[in-house]
Amino acid sequence: MNPFAEAAFLMSVAKLADLPPDGPPEIAFAGRSNVGKSSALNALAGRKRLAFFSKTPGRTQTLNFFTVGEVARLVDLPGYGYAKVPDAVRQDWDQLAGGYLAARESLVGVVIIMDSRRPFMPHDVHLIDWLRPQGTPILALLSKCDKLTRRECTETLKLAQGRIGEAILFSSQDRTGVEETRDRVGAWILAQNKRNPR
Ligand code: GDP
Repeated sequence: MNPFAEAAFLMSVAKLADLPPDGPPEIAFAGRSNVGKSSALNALAGRKRLAFFSKTPGRTQTLNFFTVGEVARLVDLPGYGYAKVPDAVRQDWDQLAGGYLAARESLVGVVIIMDSRRPFMPHDVHLIDWLRPQGTPILALLSKCDKLTRRECTETLKLAQGRIGEAILFSSQDRTGVEETRDRVGAWILAQNKRNPR
């Protein structure tokens, strides 16, 4: 199952009051700005020219929902941790994305995209430490791994697996990790739908 291939845009949400009602299992995607999240989502969807998961300005501070048929939803969270954003924008992230992650019944997993050259930056760690006690499964994608040597890849993967458990080396450029990520996310969805047949 490639849940990304079937993804269709549902809606953008700018405030928690506008969230769609809970429904099929949701997988959220988070990462620092510029970490390669849009490129990763497009690589996973297999859509080259259509910037499906886009960064149009109006969408940057919204939660973007995509349906995967009736079986799942993918939720693209705004990028965080961009040094130049004013505090007000940071508070918006905490309130909107944080509020979503803290309380969403349908949420079954969070994919955190981190730059493989500098994983576990303070904002990443903050998010991970905050998610962990909730027990939400986390998968780390170590992006832009085409920039690392083979040895650095091995070390980074080991480090991330030690800290998070599930981690995948990823490159939208050479497509490292694309199939594995589709499989892992697909497995989360299948497991949840089996537990909770609709
Ligand atoms: P986002 O802000 O997290 O959505 O990041 P983007 O997907 O827009 O990517 C940010 C920058 O990183 C762009 O210049 C991309 O071309 C570059 N980039 C994204 N993915 C990769 C990758 O797998 N390898 C390399 N080398 N560069 C990448």
